[in-house]
Amino acid sequence: MNIEHFRRKLLERKKDLTASSNRLTEEARQSGVAEVEDPIDQVTSAEAKAASFRVAGIESEELEEVEDALRRIDEGTYGKCIDCGRPIEADRLEAVPWTPYCFKDQQKHEQANARAAGDRLL
Ligand SMILES: [Zn+2]
Repeated sequence: MNIEHFRRKLLERKKDLTASSNRLTEEARQSGVAEVEDPIDQVTSAEAKAASFRVAGIESEELEEVEDALRRIDEGTYGKCIDCGRPIEADRLEAVPWTPYCFKDQQKHEQANARAAGDRLL
């Protein structure tokens, strides 16, 4: 496996996510400034702010995964599923270089998450 290829991809993704989270923070701050202007703007900017924070939440989770993957490169465990230890499918790593799971374990985790989300709704 060409580790340097994945390290480059991960570092690039990290740069994008960091830049975009800075931008979202700035947007949220600016929409906060607009809130004092009038009540209609207030609603719109509160919604914009909530949306920015939602996106920022998803992106910061992804940033964490990217940083974990870079750490696994340093530790020499990159490319192995953290659940079963088997090598992660090459096309999967190519598409999602920060994934910690093989396809099978990813599905397991997604099902568990869906169940947990369902439980919260009840
Ligand atoms: Zn696995």
